[in-house]
Amino acid sequence: MLGKNDRTGMTLENLKQALIDHLYYIQGRDEQFATLNDYYMALAYTVRDRLTDRRIKTAQTYFQKDTKVVYYLSAEFLVGRLSANNLINLGIYDEMKEATKKMGLNLEDLLEQEEEPGLGNGGLGRLAACFLDSLATLEIPAMGYGIRYEFGIFDQFIVDGWQRERPDNWLRYGNPWEIARIDYTVEIKLGGHTEAVTDAQGGYRVRWVPQDTVYGVPYDTPIPGYRNNTVNTLRLWSAKASEDFDFQVFDAGQYTQAVAEKTFSENISKVLYPNDNTPQGKELRLQQQYFFVSCSLQDIIRSYLRNHDNFDQFSNKVAIQLNDTHPSIGVAELMRLLIDEHALDWNRAWDITRQTFAYTNHTLLIEALERWSVSLFGRLLPRHLEIIYEINNRFLDEIRRKFPGDRDRLERMSLIQEGDDKHIRMAYLAFVGSHTTNGVAALHTELLKRDVMHDFYEMYPEKFQNKTNGVTPRRWLLMSNPKLSDLITSKIGDRWVKDLSELRKLEAFVDDAEFQKTWREIKQDNKRTLADYIQSDNNLEIDPDSMFDVQVKRIHEYKRQLLNALHVITLYNRIKQHGASPSDVPRTFIFGGKAAPGYFMAKLVIKLINSVAEVVNNDPDVKGLLKVVYLSNFSVSLGQITYPAADLSEQISTAGKEASGTGNMKFALSGALTIGTLDGANVEIREEVGEENFFLFGLDAQEVMAMKAQGYNPLAYYRNNAALKTVIDQIASGFFSPKEPALFKSIVDSLLYKDEYMLLADYQFYVDCQEKVSLAYQDQTQWTRMSILNVARMGKFSSDYTISEYCKSIWHVEPVPVSLEDCELPTPRLKPSLVDQV
Ligand SMILES: *Cc1c(COP(=O)(O)O)cnc(C)c1O
Repeated sequence: MLGKNDRTGMTLENLKQALIDHLYYIQGRDEQFATLNDYYMALAYTVRDRLTDRRIKTAQTYFQKDTKVVYYLSAEFLVGRLSANNLINLGIYDEMKEATKKMGLNLEDLLEQEEEPGLGNGGLGRLAACFLDSLATLEIPAMGYGIRYEFGIFDQFIVDGWQRERPDNWLRYGNPWEIARIDYTVEIKLGGHTEAVTDAQGGYRVRWVPQDTVYGVPYDTPIPGYRNNTVNTLRLWSAKASEDFDFQVFDAGQYTQAVAEKTFSENISKVLYPNDNTPQGKELRLQQQYFFVSCSLQDIIRSYLRNHDNFDQFSNKVAIQLNDTHPSIGVAELMRLLIDEHALDWNRAWDITRQTFAYTNHTLLIEALERWSVSLFGRLLPRHLEIIYEINNRFLDEIRRKFPGDRDRLERMSLIQEGDDKHIRMAYLAFVGSHTTNGVAALHTELLKRDVMHDFYEMYPEKFQNKTNGVTPRRWLLMSNPKLSDLITSKIGDRWVKDLSELRKLEAFVDDAEFQKTWREIKQDNKRTLADYIQSDNNLEIDPDSMFDVQVKRIHEYKRQLLNALHVITLYNRIKQHGASPSDVPRTFIFGGKAAPGYFMAKLVIKLINSVAEVVNNDPDVKGLLKVVYLSNFSVSLGQITYPAADLSEQISTAGKEASGTGNMKFALSGALTIGTLDGANVEIREEVGEENFFLFGLDAQEVMAMKAQGYNPLAYYRNNAALKTVIDQIASGFFSPKEPALFKSIVDSLLYKDEYMLLADYQFYVDCQEKVSLAYQDQTQWTRMSILNVARMGKFSSDYTISEYCKSIWHVEPVPVSLEDCELPTPRLKPSLVDQV
């Protein structure tokens, strides 16, 4: 019986033996010469074996029951380190700790050896990872599809206050979690032209004659559910050149040339584009998107056809979710596969396509909506361009029927943005090719309907849904905050791990002095852990007794790290001028996050924060009251020690700009209080935790729009607010950059003459609200009460809840539990046909 044989047993003895075996037979080391990394690899393989049993049984179960499967297509999966999560989900963390201890090792040291797979930029990629964890935990048949980037998000380091980037060579030492599935390699076409041909029945067909082909090789990573037998798969595609044997070139004696060119097409999966919330209209990026989408759709069809001999049941067995527009070319690709490769007619293919796809919109920023130049697109994907034009023709006819004579509407809604430089509007393609489009927070969905996609809402109101984002309680509480988890479990049991609404039961202890004290001590411990990290990484001493005021997220103007910096300078000036006032609680301002390498303003904001830190941290007048820290290279791993250490969570985006945010949820789930605007999921977090337990400030989305419409004048705020004027004048005069006084001129100019993100309009509200935060922090009993209530009321923001809503209202799938009982170890058998494919 699975899991009970010695090879993959879960007992302490089994684990120890497996560690030794893997060290010896996989790493080829004995205990005398083994490095820490050898031990880590042995550990990972030991865990992987135990997942393999369950993964195979899971796949068998889905196949035998012919279940409907959810396919989550995402250009990014920011999964974080896998070892600890896998140990926890398998339920063998403590056993493994003991097993390694018996071998003279410390489990935490081994876990630190793992390279974080940084296959995402920020929130969007992390959401995909939380969703995979929840899908497996809820026992939903599901698979994630993405790209196996050889280089993930760059490593950030800070030199003289500036961000520098280094390539993230995460596969350098090998990746023990993945298994290559060479037998499922698929071929991808690129470029070339199309030809009209007549098929055997005399029908009109199109043949795509590509210029290049490239192979996609899948690599599978197991995704275990929390303490169940489900192990789903994350399948990532790696590009492999197909010109292995170009005999013509060989004959010409250009052997080395031919082999050198081989690497060219392998560039497709080389590197993750480091842009968050801004598209990069580069051909290689379009190649990446098409590459992984075509690989995935071919794989999905192959899998479907194992149980079916026609497409009648396709949309009853397959649900495909498009995570943003990055995979939206899938709409045209599925049409192409069904029509050109599987000989379906247009109408049938279109019905299937629209019943299969659903699309998640992630942004309200107009400049972040993906558009591809028609000429670039046509060069790379000539057949898809034809298909998109045909989809558009039929769609425009539909609009004409519904709104006769409304030419403006046709132009607004067309999938093609006309003009000298024509573009394809990918969000519109995704919408038209899907049965459902969802926003990621209530406000975001409302603004989509009212604003960005209003025309579409008028035509198809029933296609819009909201699915507020969530985060997995396994990684973001159980794993990252073990002490708080233990305390919670000691009071209300451990059912909260799978049902986060159970946390409500903590409200019974909100005034329990003993409980409050322990709660505070745990926060203090977490703050010490972060302080130790900062001591070693930044060589900076910070005081765990000060308030940790934290803003960690991608650096973006709309997220307004600059507003936070203006507040730091305001406090600094106030203390310099008047000395410490009674309301000045000692604060440590902690910033962290990466800027896109080509995003000049974001990089300048990092430099400004570090320049302010330089002044503040070295001024004896504010010693013990203010400190500023920039955490370099923010990542999931760093997040796991940062979120639990925060007292105050900064969620201060311009209202109407942040689609949801998920950092806001991770902070609150670890007992930080939020200072925030009415933006994204902040609105719902405040609703849940209660307005008295949330520090709200600033203009709301309507007010932002109204003020813009009236003609917003930032200069008026500058002139009428002395403290604000002082701060901006200091930045402008080189107070923080004495060697280069004009360094921050572009920041000052953008604030005074444009202020796209309304920092000056919100400045005084923010400063006043921060004053309330300081006062509240002085009453630690009251603060702790608020902290407990925040955690107790976060149930809604579990990604388990989010996913259960997707299952119910978008995907129409049910849990399929996997049993390990009375099953035989499967006999490996290779179908000749699969071998022939390669
Ligand atoms: C959660 C998370 C984010 C998203 O943070 P927001 O505050 O929602 O923008 C970005 N990066 C990492 C590493 C995260 O874990």
